[in-house]
Amino acid sequence: MSKIQFTLEIYETQEEIRQHIQECEGKHSQQVAYSSFHDVLTQVCFTCKKVRTNKRKGESRRRGYLQGIKEENKAWRTVHNKRYFG
Ligand SMILES: [Zn+2]
Repeated sequence: MSKIQFTLEIYETQEEIRQHIQECEGKHSQQVAYSSFHDVLTQVCFTCKKVRTNKRKGESRRRGYLQGIKEENKAWRTVHNKRYFG
């Protein structure tokens, strides 16, 4: 199995990510994911070997990505519980 090293690039705005997506489109093999909870757009380009993502608006420096995922799970559970458990 071969290992691919990706470079993480963090941009200020989603617009910059979109530009990169358009540049890679049709030429490169890429995957794009969007988190509506975080309002973060992430592009993984296997040809550029880069992960491009944007900073969440107003995110404080202390709160890391993992904390964000925890909150997202909690928010989902809240919705889920409301729906199924009153
Ligand atoms: Zn690319």
